[in-house]
Amino acid sequence: MPPINPGSVRYVFVTGGVTSSLGKGIISASLAKLLQARGYRVTIQKLDPYINVDPGTLNPYEHGECYVTNDGAETDLDLGHYERFLNMPTSQANNVTTGRIYQTVINREREGAYLGKTVQVIPHITDEIKRRIKLLGETGEYDIVITEIGGTVGDIESLPYIESVRQMIWEMGSSNTAVIHLTLLPYLSTTGELKTKPTQHSVKMLLEYGIQPDVLVCRTEKPVSNDLRRKIALFCNVNINAVIESIDASTIYEVPLLMLKEQLDKVILNKLKLALKHEPDMVAWKDFLGKLKNPVYEVHIGLVGKYIELKDAYKSIAEAFIHAGVSNECRVKLEWIHSEKIDPENPRASLGTLSGILVAPGFGERGIEGKIAAIRYAREQKIPFLGICLGMQCAVVEFARNVLGLKDAHSSEMNPQTNNPVIDMMAEQKAITSKGGTMRLGEYPCNITKGTKAFQVYGKTKITERHRHRFEFNNKYLDAFEKAGMQASGTNPDSGLVEIVELKNHPWFVGVQFHPEYKSTVLNPHPLFARFVKAALDKSNGALQETKGDTTAAYAG
Ligand code: GLN
Repeated sequence: MPPINPGSVRYVFVTGGVTSSLGKGIISASLAKLLQARGYRVTIQKLDPYINVDPGTLNPYEHGECYVTNDGAETDLDLGHYERFLNMPTSQANNVTTGRIYQTVINREREGAYLGKTVQVIPHITDEIKRRIKLLGETGEYDIVITEIGGTVGDIESLPYIESVRQMIWEMGSSNTAVIHLTLLPYLSTTGELKTKPTQHSVKMLLEYGIQPDVLVCRTEKPVSNDLRRKIALFCNVNINAVIESIDASTIYEVPLLMLKEQLDKVILNKLKLALKHEPDMVAWKDFLGKLKNPVYEVHIGLVGKYIELKDAYKSIAEAFIHAGVSNECRVKLEWIHSEKIDPENPRASLGTLSGILVAPGFGERGIEGKIAAIRYAREQKIPFLGICLGMQCAVVEFARNVLGLKDAHSSEMNPQTNNPVIDMMAEQKAITSKGGTMRLGEYPCNITKGTKAFQVYGKTKITERHRHRFEFNNKYLDAFEKAGMQASGTNPDSGLVEIVELKNHPWFVGVQFHPEYKSTVLNPHPLFARFVKAALDKSNGALQETKGDTTAAYAG
């Protein structure tokens, strides 16, 4: 069927019902992947219903990792999934919170922009929400914009978003918009049945708000029979082929192929009156998935951090290891190690079985001595090491204390009184008191010295990476470090700030001030992770165990 309205941008909305954590982000990213693989230009946006202006000030225990984009936005971790699936950068425009919406409206009110009007949720807040949704479409860069609405239908705080979706459909017309409702079919083991009632209620609630969903994606642990699909279609007023089964998968990277089998992409394109073009080109994706499921080797790597109770706190790192594992045909078994549990007198007890140690990013003093002890162990025992952000800063502190003999060396974040602040705050940062959005954020260039491990990793001298920190290597100490064998192999060309350190007499010991994990994608595994996994593999015998690794964790979010 030829497109009715070929020039216009189409908007797809993804809402969630019944419970949270059904995986709206993964469904959105999977649909986007399939549409991209059919030749459409697609982007995904997340609308978050909380009052924080961005998740940068949220505790990782509360909300998982804060993901940082090239333009320095601190965003929801779903944006990480969007980038990893689509292999394309996102930006501030891809993540909007209620706090940001209200901040904009209130600022405009103070400027007098509403000319004496009473400022209200409808129309002022909903207009601002719609403006933010349309912004991406108006760039001219996309054919389809997928907007994921955070929260669950029925939540008080999601109401203005749902109302904005209703208005968008009314304004844009039915063939320019589609609504996907992600829902759960609980399985009752006593009767051996999948139940549809929560889905019926959830759709009824959407109908009360004036929205008829076009597609129901049903999360389920058992296959959904045709009879059940017919029943759901009838009660929820959708086409039978628009009842999509989303069965539990062993890895999130399988979901696009499951959605392809269920023809989610075709159903959506038909609704949008867009041509199917060609079958999705998923050759590289399938190759990745094949290697992920059939590794040749296995390696144990320790992730040392203090937020390990919530694995989402290190989401991008865990995913980067999956990508890097595949590029080495290797299953990376991540051992999550709480830095507070490492005994500085006996680090081997926690770290003895590992072939590689990663010390994670973080903030504040808690658990810091455990991280430093883990680094000392990696350095002395010649175990491959990667330190990210705080992990790199701890490596610098450890080297200062135990190699340079500066016993009280520390980061001034942890000990503002130290006589040897080998990690210190930049002058520009010292004047800043406000916490939100004030770190060194986003993409910065870095020059790499030839003949170093960093150069082996990147294979070039000019790179860019994303940052999120306030503290920096203190260049007053650089000479002493380099003379003793810790080299600054990457520096910022404008400020001279040290971005990468590495040890000369160690098989693989690298610390980076930036966050490489944000840039690792399925089709472009990050070379730092890939090389680190390779070094760990070289250290171990790599034998594959029968047990299943972390790559098999079910998806949610
Ligand atoms: N707390 C450190 C800083 O602000 C490190 C931050 C991080 O690991 N992202 O510099």
